[in-house]
Amino acid sequence: MAKLITLAETGAMLMAANKIALVCHVSPDSDTLGSALGLMLKLEQLGKKTVILVDDYIGTEFKFLPCIERCIRPQASENIYADILAVIDSSTFDRIGLAGKVVKAPIILNIDHHISNAKFADYLYLDTEAAATGEIMCDLFEVMKWKYDLETATCFYAAISTDCGFFKYSNTKSKTMMRAAELLSAGVRPNEISDAIDMKSRNTIELLAKVLATLSFEYSGRVAYVTISNDLYDKSIPTDSFVSYPRYIEGVEIAVMFKAVEQEVTRVSLRSSNVDVSEIATKFGGGGHLRAAGCTINAPIEEAKQQLFTILKEIL
Ligand code: AMP
Ligand code: MN
Ligand code: MN
Repeated sequence: MAKLITLAETGAMLMAANKIALVCHVSPDSDTLGSALGLMLKLEQLGKKTVILVDDYIGTEFKFLPCIERCIRPQASENIYADILAVIDSSTFDRIGLAGKVVKAPIILNIDHHISNAKFADYLYLDTEAAATGEIMCDLFEVMKWKYDLETATCFYAAISTDCGFFKYSNTKSKTMMRAAELLSAGVRPNEISDAIDMKSRNTIELLAKVLATLSFEYSGRVAYVTISNDLYDKSIPTDSFVSYPRYIEGVEIAVMFKAVEQEVTRVSLRSSNVDVSEIATKFGGGGHLRAAGCTINAPIEEAKQQLFTILKEIL
């Protein structure tokens, strides 16, 4: 069970270390990458040695993030020694993949905002009210009296804005917007970041057209889902945004995207208007937030659908 700590303790712990290994979750998003990169940049300005690890493919859609090229993919054969393993925006240890095995550190520190947090670390700073881990980073900067520069502000703005759907989702609080305003004062241009995030390759839109053709409904239209079968699946094409299409259909309470990442491995994304989908994802070893969650089911896609629909039937 993790010891819950304050932001001041989190900052003090980082300042007491010489080398910090920052780790993002697999299927990385702007929140995990932006939060880790912004923190890395500040720690380096303060004279710390850092390394940033992501055990996954990092899509070209993140190339606008400052220093994204510093993210390295851990190799099974290596050992990386550090004073602290800082797990950023991840609610479970297995969600950092190989990085959890490769990094040898006496302290595991977890900074997170997921309601499903499994409290796996030695020390945990958890704020489930924060719209994004990026918002927590801004809180940490304030407590530590660290100043933003354009690069750190860009990282945190990208982190915050994507996790709250550009200030649309219910996790958007007045504080979320205040933090965003501070980042704009540091020079961030919101249009440049949203343009970079919204820009899609032709391949992505062509895939979206095929995925939308799979749109189906269950339970009298209360559940809508799309399917990315294994022959459509392409690791290099970002599909995170696709689940928003079934989500915004009148009468739909739960939207699901099934993605066959391997023949027997199905990645499931859940979105809802009200139902707690984090609880559903947790039943399959995943997690997330009330209205946005995900999990991986180790079964072929059609079998995974049946497993999930059985649970949904109980809930609806
Ligand atoms: P996604 O559908 O992958 O965009 O995930 C939606 C939300 O659920 C994000 O906040 C993720 O961090 C979280 N999430 C997704 N998959 C998992 C998982 N396997 N374990 C814990 N949290 C997850
Ligand atoms: Mn994330
Ligand atoms: Mn997040």
